[in-house]
Amino acid sequence: MGRRITRNFNIGSVGIGSNYPISIQSMLKTKNTDVDACLTQIKELEEVHCDLIRVSVPDDKSLETFVTLQKNTNIPLIADIHYSYELAYKVLEAGAKKIRMNPGNMPDFSKIDKLVSELKNNHACIRIGVNAGSINKSYENQSEVDKIVNSTMDCLSVFENLGFHDIVLGLKSSNIQTTIECNEKIAKICDYPMHIGLTESGPLREGLVKSSIAISRLLEQGIGDTVRVSLSNSPVEEVIAAKTILKSLGLRNDVPELVSCPTCARTKINVPLLSEKIEKELAKINKNIKIAVMGCPINGIDEGKGADLGIAGGEKESIIFVKGKQVARISNENLVEEFMKYVNNYLKEE
Ligand code: SF4
Repeated sequence: MGRRITRNFNIGSVGIGSNYPISIQSMLKTKNTDVDACLTQIKELEEVHCDLIRVSVPDDKSLETFVTLQKNTNIPLIADIHYSYELAYKVLEAGAKKIRMNPGNMPDFSKIDKLVSELKNNHACIRIGVNAGSINKSYENQSEVDKIVNSTMDCLSVFENLGFHDIVLGLKSSNIQTTIECNEKIAKICDYPMHIGLTESGPLREGLVKSSIAISRLLEQGIGDTVRVSLSNSPVEEVIAAKTILKSLGLRNDVPELVSCPTCARTKINVPLLSEKIEKELAKINKNIKIAVMGCPINGIDEGKGADLGIAGGEKESIIFVKGKQVARISNENLVEEFMKYVNNYLKEE
């Protein structure tokens, strides 16, 4: 699948643009006043190899938190700014390598002059992140797509006129078709990297389905350099979802694949629970490996033989198989832990 050719630059240690792998990002959902909770969520995101983490910076207290968090992780943090240019200047002075601004609620573009100086001084970049719900009133007579695209272009031209081009564009709506059309339109007229995803996509199930459709249809056209699957759920779920989309389209080969059987009357083990636990463990592995979780030994081993490793569940003990061949029978107590030892050994021996 080809990529649209874009400009390339760095967000701290992470490259963005068509020369680099498509990065995965999520956002902290913890209170900025609770530094420990923020650090715990960052640790969870580190474990699942999230590439970039966005953090809201709505006030000076949050700015202090941002600085503390930045000192405690190697993942580049993106400061999410609404309403206040002053906070954008301050967070850049504090070392942020990327900020996100929403032009819809930062309409005084005369302040972009100083913003560009701060960005250049700090070798930082910016996402112009336009959301359908927060477009400036001056665009209200335009179609939904035109509103989003034109407000993006108007803001972008201010940066360009000031000679600044380390810009990522994000054009989002909660509507799939609107989001796709906006991104298609803007991708044809500029070469900036694109941040893709839906906004307010919904709770886990609805959000996953809608986001997968929108993101996949853009990626299939080569559009998209960083992905966020916005869900009313944990950031880890967002990362797992983004990885699954990229892996399924053959755009990342450092992500495990998990297959599991739909279960039936022959099922001997709680496949939904077991596969969910294994999915969480696999999210910590950045290798291309295929795992099968099957509900019974009768058909499970044979049907799961396309996987590198698998479990065929039994009532008290389950069978571990490698490429369709039984290698062990282990107790269902601590099954996940024991199985992951086999997975890690397999990866070591590969
Ligand atoms: S693997 Fe076994 S339990 Fe799962 S669907 Fe097939 S027959 Fe049923």
